Amino acid sequence: MPELPEVETIVRGLHVEIAGRILRDVWVRRRDLRLPIPREFPERVIGRRILAVQRRAKYLLFRLDDPLRADGTLILAHLGMTGRFAVQTPPFPELGAHDHVVFLTDDGRRTTFSDPRRFGLLSLGYSDRLAEHPLLKDLGPEPLDASWTGEQLLGKVAARRSPLKALLLNQSVVAGLGNIYVSEALFRARLSPLRLGCSLKLVEARRLVRAVRDVLQDAIAAGGSTLRDYVQADGSIGGFQTHFSVYEQQDQSCSHRGCPGVIRRIVQAGRSTYFCPACQR
Ligand SMILES: [Zn+2]
Repeated sequence: MPELPEVETIVRGLHVEIAGRILRDVWVRRRDLRLPIPREFPERVIGRRILAVQRRAKYLLFRLDDPLRADGTLILAHLGMTGRFAVQTPPFPELGAHDHVVFLTDDGRRTTFSDPRRFGLLSLGYSDRLAEHPLLKDLGPEPLDASWTGEQLLGKVAARRSPLKALLLNQSVVAGLGNIYVSEALFRARLSPLRLGCSLKLVEARRLVRAVRDVLQDAIAAGGSTLRDYVQADGSIGGFQTHFSVYEQQDQSCSHRGCPGVIRRIVQAGRSTYFCPACQR
């Protein structure tokens, strides 16, 4: 499942490829994704120019111009488990059963949204009402925004008797984190995934915010080099998932200098957590 760095990589790749293009036609071949694609989807987007492709949490936001609204229309997309966008140049391959939506752009190319498992979605919104959109309104701060601080994080978790692992996965505490990067960030911050939110000190919360940001930025940097291939070819994700310190590294020696620990895998709320019991306290 794509996490925030993968979505950011895809967003940057799509922006390079399709920002500035006009949507000449849109075919909705199948509406029943995780949420049904709105019936008015084609009429709302055909003829509009794509101004930018951006991200909020794990949502892709396609900002479109709109002569009727100064602030423009938005396409919101979520990749779910298996969703992907591919920008294709003619001669086009034949469309497959999982190519649910096809966007034809004024440069003669097409962008397909395919999703075999259909946990992804495509929806509509307005740029000036983004924060109130039903899919986005409960999302917490964006972890890569410089405005997200240890004080803010502490404010969200100080009264909670849940483990840090669960709190960081909670999208209202911080948006966009998934299982992989929560394990990696807690390792970098040397905090145990079992620690309760109410036990966190300010200095630790600040360390955790830094660790989350660093691990996401490192992953984006590693993925960025392959982003052009990503959206132009078959959608396979670049090589950055091979650099994990703890995720799926059980029984390996801890990579923190001088730590004699061994990475362990435990299950929290039905999901795997990886950590070093020796240096993560
Ligand atoms: Zn260790």
